[in-house]
Amino acid sequence: MSYVFGPVPSRRLGRSLGVDLVPFKMCTYDCIYCQLGCTTDKSLERQPFVPADKVLEEIKEKIALKPDYITLSGSGEPTLYTGIGDIIEGIRAFTDIPIALITNGSLLWKKEVRQAIANAHLIIPSLDAGNTLMFNAVNRNHPDISFEQMLDGLIALRDDFTGTIWLEVFILSGYTADIAEVKQMAACAKRIRPDRIQLNTVTRPPAEEFAMTVNQAQLEEMCQYFEPEAEVIADFREVHNQTDFTTTRDAVEEMLQRRPCSIDDITTGLHIHRHEALKHLQELLADKRIEMVRTVNRIFYRTC
Ligand code: SF4
Repeated sequence: MSYVFGPVPSRRLGRSLGVDLVPFKMCTYDCIYCQLGCTTDKSLERQPFVPADKVLEEIKEKIALKPDYITLSGSGEPTLYTGIGDIIEGIRAFTDIPIALITNGSLLWKKEVRQAIANAHLIIPSLDAGNTLMFNAVNRNHPDISFEQMLDGLIALRDDFTGTIWLEVFILSGYTADIAEVKQMAACAKRIRPDRIQLNTVTRPPAEEFAMTVNQAQLEEMCQYFEPEAEVIADFREVHNQTDFTTTRDAVEEMLQRRPCSIDDITTGLHIHRHEALKHLQELLADKRIEMVRTVNRIFYRTC
């Protein structure tokens, strides 16, 4: 099993070497906008999912590719992995490449989680709602995490963590794209005191059809309500250098010319990580070279 993928191009992190620390869709949330699909295993139980020594070995092999960041993220919520602190310490022992952690922030109220991630260089937590109603509707959180608990964790992170925090605020049409909701999220963000606030929205096929995007102009208008003023990071038109990938976009398109495929068909057929496949698919969709077909419980892609 491969725990490390890329480097893949990332608008915020340059060439990012991804590290996948949890089984596919093992998460504390089941966000309606999740690009990985619906959560199959909603849990709060932290576990030693992967062998830390093997993950570190793989990272060590890949750092010759000189990524800009080593990014702990992947196919679910990475703080559910009990060995995350060992991974961070292990990476720091052999390289100076900065370590970024992308987390939904739902477990930061646990002191042991904040301690484990204390030596990352950059933490990018999420805030997708400014109140319980929206939190439940957008994140479809595990019932044992309350909105207040999640928010307290994010506030405590700033008190403990000496590295950089970029707060990602996800905006959804029909949910949080309303100015009253934005103001509530802005009030929460002010209490969290991140170094930067970044607004994002749906740009890849979401878990649920009703999770809808907002346009760039709307997002830019919302930036002013945040302090510090937010920036838009939604990648409405991602086009990356082919050499940034380990496989080519043409290979993905050729596969879809033969037959419609799900994301699993593509990752298995081309032996690439889901995140790399998603980036290619997004670009092919933007170029209108392929289209997405949603069935009852699966999403397929096919050439137009
Ligand atoms: S927290 Fe991330 S991985 Fe989990 S459901 Fe939400 S978007 Fe998907």
